[in-house]
Amino acid sequence: MKKIALFLFVLLALVSCQKQPKQSGCVVQVALGHWVPTHYTAEQIIGRIDTVNQIMPVEKVIIGWTLDVDKKIYRQVGEYLHSKGIRMLLWLPLFAETEQVFDNSPAVDLWGRTPANYDSAASNAFRFNCPSDPKNIANLLDIYDRVFSDCGFDGVFLDRVRTQSFVCGVSGVLGCGCPLCVERFAAEGVDIQKVKSEFESQGDAFFSVSAYSPADGFVFENPLAAAFFKAKSHIVSSSVAAICDSLRSRNLEVGLDLYAPFMAPFVGQDYSILTAHADFIKPMLYRKTFAPAGMGYEYELLRKSLPGATGYPALEMDVDFLNSQLDAMARYDCGKYPGIELNYDKELVPTSPEYVAESLKAVKDHGFEGIVLSWNILEVPLSHLEALRSSPNQ
Ligand SMILES: [Zn+2]
Repeated sequence: MKKIALFLFVLLALVSCQKQPKQSGCVVQVALGHWVPTHYTAEQIIGRIDTVNQIMPVEKVIIGWTLDVDKKIYRQVGEYLHSKGIRMLLWLPLFAETEQVFDNSPAVDLWGRTPANYDSAASNAFRFNCPSDPKNIANLLDIYDRVFSDCGFDGVFLDRVRTQSFVCGVSGVLGCGCPLCVERFAAEGVDIQKVKSEFESQGDAFFSVSAYSPADGFVFENPLAAAFFKAKSHIVSSSVAAICDSLRSRNLEVGLDLYAPFMAPFVGQDYSILTAHADFIKPMLYRKTFAPAGMGYEYELLRKSLPGATGYPALEMDVDFLNSQLDAMARYDCGKYPGIELNYDKELVPTSPEYVAESLKAVKDHGFEGIVLSWNILEVPLSHLEALRSSPNQ
């Protein structure tokens, strides 16, 4: 009898365990500076993560990519994180900004020109590099092995896994057109000479679309445009997949920073390929960021760059749109941690605690593995962190 009672008790415990709603994981990003020495201390970083952890349990920390010469900061933060059962991932850029530390070959447009850099007048100017050159790929793996492999990282989070967007006009999107990439386009059945002459004769109309739905994205009217963007996504994403495989063979967890599903094809991101090779993805679902990767910002740049292209609907960056992008990523079989911006800037990122709570609720309602609090937890206003506490379903 006792045995039966015990059995029933264990069974009940198991059933009630399964009924518990899935605890969604919180991932934070710590931006220490791009290659340059950081001005933050390990104590500041640990203190801030501790604050977040008390509001919402932190599962992973993405931190990088200062070249801290003695690696002390990563080791110190890593020791603290591991004592709390939190994983530490190195934040590394892949196809942009690497030229600052390596002799990488640039991405060029279909006419062989290097597209203008983002914010070329500012100190944070950077260029994009070719997604096919084996040297560019080897350099990324080399810097991990040489500089970061003994710092205690549990994984790598790859940023800039793409080509340039419409930030500098159409030229960056029509690439990479270097001889190596042209060969890969040919292998995908796309003749770049034909794409060039089609664009030269059609102009903006080359980009016209006949339909848009969140699930299927934009449907190009011109079959050559459709074939070009499909091939481009295969080329860029296959290179990223190869790097993911190499990193995972080192026993590292791999996460990817992605454009929202509706803009991803323009920058060479094929969700089907990428999600088959990464442990998790972080689509940047930024509705209030008026800088690269901001959804409305990028979409308006597209429309401004292509005034003669037809079929692009006006898209309101409201919570319904956020939900449509969350729905669009639901079918992919890998960890899904949408990125919501918590940073604040009056002009560039006019977020608010209400915006944070609304976005968090939408993400939680989808029941994914978690959320990434973007993009620098050290600069997030405390009121925005408090908004995480007041969010429903917490
Ligand atoms: Zn190339």
